[in-house]
Amino acid sequence: MAYNCIVLVKQVPDTAHITGQAMKEDGTVNRAALPAIFNPEDLNALEMALQVRDQHGGSVTVITMGPPRAADILREALTRGADRVILLTDRRTAGSDTLATSYALACAVRKAGQPTGLPDLVFCGRQAIDGDTAQVGPQVAEKLGLPQITYAEAILALTGSEIVVRRAFPLGQETVRCTLPCLLTVVGTANQPRPPSVRRSAATKLAAIPQEIPTLLARWPEFSSEEALSRYLDQRGLKITVWNADDIGAEADRVGLEGSPTKVLKVDYVVLGGFESREFEPSPEGMSALVRELAREYII
Ligand SMILES: Cc1cc2nc3c(=O)[nH]c(=O)nc-3n(C[C@H](O)[C@H](O)[C@H](O)COP(=O)(O)OP(=O)(O)OC[C@H]3O[C@@H](n4cnc5c(N)ncnc54)[C@H](O)[C@@H]3O)c2cc1C
Repeated sequence: MAYNCIVLVKQVPDTAHITGQAMKEDGTVNRAALPAIFNPEDLNALEMALQVRDQHGGSVTVITMGPPRAADILREALTRGADRVILLTDRRTAGSDTLATSYALACAVRKAGQPTGLPDLVFCGRQAIDGDTAQVGPQVAEKLGLPQITYAEAILALTGSEIVVRRAFPLGQETVRCTLPCLLTVVGTANQPRPPSVRRSAATKLAAIPQEIPTLLARWPEFSSEEALSRYLDQRGLKITVWNADDIGAEADRVGLEGSPTKVLKVDYVVLGGFESREFEPSPEGMSALVRELAREYII
């Protein structure tokens, strides 16, 4: 049996490679100092979906909700093996909290599943490294009326409309059986995501959303006009599908700031200064002392 899979992925700031002050003076995030990347656990979710397709047949559709520049991770998803990518972008969804984000994503999953209905499997990362709530996957499942398997580490069996999954927690594991369709949130230990393929990178390097066509034209002057380039992309299936809130049938008061009951009253940020240092002997005793110190300070 072939399985239709949808993977929800988020573009996040790369908090491990900060190239300047991460926060501005007004307390907002300085996005210029934080390169944007594919949320790490979403790569594991994508890999799990690709393995299902490779072993059983079917398709992998990747959806992200974000600003136009989030198209970058959709191009990356194509180079890693996704069959189809969709960008959900609309100013009206800006400022969405997890309730509004999951509502919009649930609407998009429903639409992407048409005309046959819901996909067999929806994959999410367990958690995004910026918002960090781990709420979106479970909320999407709830809104779609799907059973959910969180902390999924491995698909042990997939036969007909039944899936057996190993869940992994810091203190143990659990094996669960579930009937499809269902939603999985995938942990970082699940797999080693495949690298982008050179062949697919060459084939999809022109993949673009309509807003990017003028910039693309400047780089590819052999096309006589935006229309000519647009036609070329259409013919080769390289125009990335873009949906707005109306396309997915989202009610205006359930997305964006209006649809978000979470109100951030104040943001505090802490700067940890490294003005003093301590030395530990490079010996087993020294390492034990270092670990004890880090644990005492709640650093690990
Ligand atoms: C510092 C900070 C604090 C925040 N605090 C709160 C808060 O307390 N309450 C609140 O409701 N919101 C909060 N938000 C907003 C929150 O980030 C957004 O609602 C966000 O869109 C989704 O939540 P998350 O990042 O926690 O995702 P998570 O729930 O951690 O993400 C889990 C998975 O859901 C999927 N997913 C998440 N977002 C998207 C997307 N845009 N497109 C496609 N797939 C996606 C991915 O598969 C991801 O791995 C905060 C944001 C920041 C930056």
